[in-house]
Amino acid sequence: MEILAQFGTEQQRQEWLEPLLDGRIRSAFCMTEPDVASSDAANIALRIERTGEEYVLNGRKWWSSGAMSPQCRVFIVMGVTDPDAERYRRQSMVLVPKDTPGIGVVRSTSVFGYTDGPHGGHAEVVFDNVRVPASNILLGEGEGFRIAQERLGPGRIHHCMRALGAAERALELLCRRVTGRVAFGKPVAAQGVVQDWVADARIRLEMARLLVLKTAWLMDTAGKKAARMEISAIKVAVPEVANWVIDRAIQAHGGAGVSQDFPLAALWAQVRTLHLADGPDEVHKMAIARRELGRYVTG
Ligand SMILES: Cc1cc2nc3c(=O)[nH]c(=O)nc-3n(C[C@H](O)[C@H](O)[C@H](O)COP(=O)(O)OP(=O)(O)OC[C@H]3O[C@@H](n4cnc5c(N)ncnc54)[C@H](O)[C@@H]3O)c2cc1C
Repeated sequence: MEILAQFGTEQQRQEWLEPLLDGRIRSAFCMTEPDVASSDAANIALRIERTGEEYVLNGRKWWSSGAMSPQCRVFIVMGVTDPDAERYRRQSMVLVPKDTPGIGVVRSTSVFGYTDGPHGGHAEVVFDNVRVPASNILLGEGEGFRIAQERLGPGRIHHCMRALGAAERALELLCRRVTGRVAFGKPVAAQGVVQDWVADARIRLEMARLLVLKTAWLMDTAGKKAARMEISAIKVAVPEVANWVIDRAIQAHGGAGVSQDFPLAALWAQVRTLHLADGPDEVHKMAIARRELGRYVTG
């Protein structure tokens, strides 16, 4: 939605954004490919070739979240329009209605065995001579990399807000469990090690929350570009904190923590994917380090 709102033409917004905002349809973002290291967006290889007044798409995507939903009607697909262009100008994005001939939704990929809902799963999608009108391009040829960069800021902050909520829930469950359960003659909460987890969890959560708030404030007041470093920082810091808290909550629950009787295992699995989705930790750290070191490079 973010992409259409920011980069769509009047006609594209009318056709797709309005029904998306009304909740009548869903979309999927198709960038990642099974055959190339997609954390480097410049590697994206699906071919988008202009022939007359159409673009023809050939290639394979996976991890297209939301594409399994019967409500999903449109894909935003990233691919190569000019393989000879400068590294960051090779790719473009086009809008592709899901029912276009040549599209095959091959399968859904699971996350640690979870299917992420009956229709919410992540899809592997084949594009075999898929034809769309040339007017379906977003912003213009060569703008794919830029759109991908711009899109991910708001998406990342939402991921972090959800992860903080998941960690808060885990801490609440942890506290309830250890105060109501007795081992070796006293509540589990009376153990120093457990109190250490609880205190550490609260400290880490508050630090992470403040960094997310700072990032949101920067985005609101100075714009997404000015908040780039902070966006990368929260994308690394929050999943780390949330996974740590959820992991301790699992431990405090004993065997119950990994069972289906509590939401902890599912929360852990969801948050664990955030070390990968929307850019692996290492890539965000690379961006932060480049910025930091850049201040000291002379000449
Ligand atoms: C639950 C989930 C939902 C997703 N949803 C979507 C979606 O809707 N649309 C979409 O297009 N994609 C989606 N993805 C895909 C996700 O964005 C990619 O998995 C991610 O960008 C990494 O790409 P890759 O899997 O090709 O890993 P690769 O690029 O093969 O990287 C593998 C590993 O190499 C290491 N690495 C890479 N670069 C560096 C570096 N510079 N320094 C050090 N180490 C490095 C990292 O550890 C990285 O995890 C989703 C993934 C998951 C798990």
